[in-house]
Amino acid sequence: MEGIKINEIFWSAQGEGVRKGISSIFVRLAGCSLGCTYCDSKSAWHTGDYFTTEKIISMIEQFEKSYPQSQVVITGGEPLEQQIEELVSLLKEKGLFVAIETNGNHFKDIPIDWWTVSPKDVSDFRIDDKLRMKISEIKLVVNDNLNFEVIRSISGKNINTPIFLQPQFPDPDRFEVTFKLFEKCIRGGFSNVRLGVQMHRSFNIK
Ligand code: SF4
Repeated sequence: MEGIKINEIFWSAQGEGVRKGISSIFVRLAGCSLGCTYCDSKSAWHTGDYFTTEKIISMIEQFEKSYPQSQVVITGGEPLEQQIEELVSLLKEKGLFVAIETNGNHFKDIPIDWWTVSPKDVSDFRIDDKLRMKISEIKLVVNDNLNFEVIRSISGKNINTPIFLQPQFPDPDRFEVTFKLFEKCIRGGFSNVRLGVQMHRSFNIK
């Protein structure tokens, strides 16, 4: 099948990380081979249609007319499991700021402006070695498999990279666990670790 399998393209505000709150056109690609039980985009695992690069660019241009100066966020699913090289090149030719959200298992040498990497417990928090040199920020889901030792291992190789700790579920217990882990990291000397939250959940937006 030709093209890129797309789950949805929509406009909203970035809800996570350093660039939280920025007007964003999200391009959600379908498919991810990891299958995390807590995935908040399970609908993207199998559901989607194949679009040509030209069609995707055209849809982004339509959003740009209504929401000028937005960044483009390529997300998923896992976007690096598909052939997105041409799409990224064309977006950069248009002068757009392009961010990507990836689970860290893959790397492509493409001109992305902002790399958000969210390594997962199901792949032993693996981050591709070549990707490590590019990372802009790391997001970690706080669940029973994430602990100080894991964070130390990740942070040790990316000591100046912001690492956000985000609760797996937005409930009081998980917030408390997340905050305690954040405190432990700071006390342990990892000043690049930050407390994070999914702002879009609070606003009840995508
Ligand atoms: S890596 Fe991300 S997109 Fe893939 S299953 Fe896990 S949470 Fe979902």
